[in-house]
Amino acid sequence: MLKKYVFRSNRAGYNILFLGAIHGNEPAGTQAISTAVQKFASGALIPLKGTVSFIPVCNPLAFERNVRQIDENLNRIIRRWNNPTTYEQNLANELSAEIEAADIIIDLHSSHCPDDKPFIFNDYPDDHLACRLSSVQNIEYVVEGWPQIYNAAPIKDYSTGSWAKICGKTCLTVECGYHLSDTAVKTAYHVIMNTLLSLDVLEGFSSVPPKQKYIAMDGFFIKTGSGHLARPFKHLDPISAGELLAFYDNGTSVVCPQDGFIMLPNPNAAVGTEWFYLGHQK
Ligand SMILES: [Zn+2]
Repeated sequence: MLKKYVFRSNRAGYNILFLGAIHGNEPAGTQAISTAVQKFASGALIPLKGTVSFIPVCNPLAFERNVRQIDENLNRIIRRWNNPTTYEQNLANELSAEIEAADIIIDLHSSHCPDDKPFIFNDYPDDHLACRLSSVQNIEYVVEGWPQIYNAAPIKDYSTGSWAKICGKTCLTVECGYHLSDTAVKTAYHVIMNTLLSLDVLEGFSSVPPKQKYIAMDGFFIKTGSGHLARPFKHLDPISAGELLAFYDNGTSVVCPQDGFIMLPNPNAAVGTEWFYLGHQK
């Protein structure tokens, strides 16, 4: 059983669930959740309506080993598995039930490179509540179109967000910055607070969000053999059509198809997994 902390008010309201460490090497969300849990547990914070729940570590074994996953990427397999055969499929069964029981899910992640800028995945911009919750965050970049780039891909995307959508729930996934940076922990904590303040679960004023920039995702590249990125790309670095993005050891290279941004470059991507994504400003 995953460790879960639940704080109930005695007034009706949303059941809000915060998730940390879906990927085991992303401690920022876990640290921010731990701070929030301590404040609720001590009575320093009291929910005024609804229920606030936290699962600080969604992939405990991967978290313990400080690796992204044990058998497979948990955030591509969130659904019900009748006969789970991997460690993550068992976790997915538990997490999909938790998502079904919530109204709003905020999934806190971090990314691979120092100085990575935080951003929000708003996968379903037709969800007004998701847009509202996205707009109150002190985060400059909002990324749309994630589900669409997986539609025709060999890797299937059963993420927390897609399972929430299937179940009629609202979910935002927030990338809080580099895995090991203090700013990622602060960003994750502000996401928790701004979400609760904007829903009147807590009393007070949230920070004024910056004018947000919207990025549309265009696609992604799967690493098909051993190789390396052409330079130490950072998330949201501008790139141009024709620019070399990566080299394979067999001498072939990956060329940028159009002007835009490189997103979530993973210099340590395993063969057969996502190496980097591409997008453009809307
Ligand atoms: Zn992650």
